[in-house]
Amino acid sequence: MADLPKRVKIVEVGPRDGLQNEPEPIPTNIKLSFIDALAHSGLQHIEATAFVHPKAIPQLADAIDVAKNLPPHPCVEYSALVPNQRGLDRALESGIRRIAVFTAASDEFAKKNINMSVEESLAVFQPVIASAITGGMTVRGYVSTSFVCPYAGEISKERVLDVAKRLIDMGCDEVAISDTIGAAAPSDIDRTVGHVLQFVPAAQIALHLHDTYGTALANVLAGLQLGISNFDSSAGGLGGCPYAKGAAGNLATEDLVYFLDRMGIESGVRLNDVAMASMLISDQLKRELPSKQLKRLNAARRANGNQQNGESPNSN
Ligand code: MG
Repeated sequence: MADLPKRVKIVEVGPRDGLQNEPEPIPTNIKLSFIDALAHSGLQHIEATAFVHPKAIPQLADAIDVAKNLPPHPCVEYSALVPNQRGLDRALESGIRRIAVFTAASDEFAKKNINMSVEESLAVFQPVIASAITGGMTVRGYVSTSFVCPYAGEISKERVLDVAKRLIDMGCDEVAISDTIGAAAPSDIDRTVGHVLQFVPAAQIALHLHDTYGTALANVLAGLQLGISNFDSSAGGLGGCPYAKGAAGNLATEDLVYFLDRMGIESGVRLNDVAMASMLISDQLKRELPSKQLKRLNAARRANGNQQNGESPNSN
């Protein structure tokens, strides 16, 4: 296929976006082993945690412990979500060098998710982004519900551009256009992201996709065709959204890596090694994760084990 990016950057969001949606907190040492395994798979951008109020997201109450003990990998850039000045102070204290701020294209969603209108959240972020940059950090911005909002319905492309542009003007070097409930189809990507790209360089745009309706990889292709080379994914397909009922699963890193490998697009990430990291967390959660590639590899592993035990697997 002509003119697709030759190389793609993957931002792994499993440790933050994935684990914050699990009903039970994961022990800090397991999180750190998970992050270490992800770093060993070739992932170079890992969103490790969030400095949010522990009462809002108890699953990430150990943010400082996680951030201070991140496994040292010289090629890996760790980041953390920061909602306000207090969060930024904790991030600075922990030695994190990259933060992400989080707003939406829909006021209804922003109010339910972060208890502020979009406008109010941008007013909060402006000084936070400025002092982060002064402190030597880099900043990413998220625009949630960029296509469909569970409360407000269809989102206009002009609105997404407006919020993305303002985050960039405030100092974000990258904005993740996010399909928070996974409702978008390639035509939505084409319309909205295509519009944003008329005013913002592709290098500053990432796509954060969910696979709720099974459209995530089709949307990756639509993004690639627009020149986007920056995609978020979550090991095993961990995650969902506590504020958007039924929105289960970020695009799985394994599924994205298989897709890119098969398309001849370099990501630097090794599928089998991501799956090892996912198995570690899947064992801890005592449930199977939704990634198709992970399921395939697990089935192969079980079949292998059975063969070694002298059992013959059903092969139809
Ligand atoms: Mg997500």
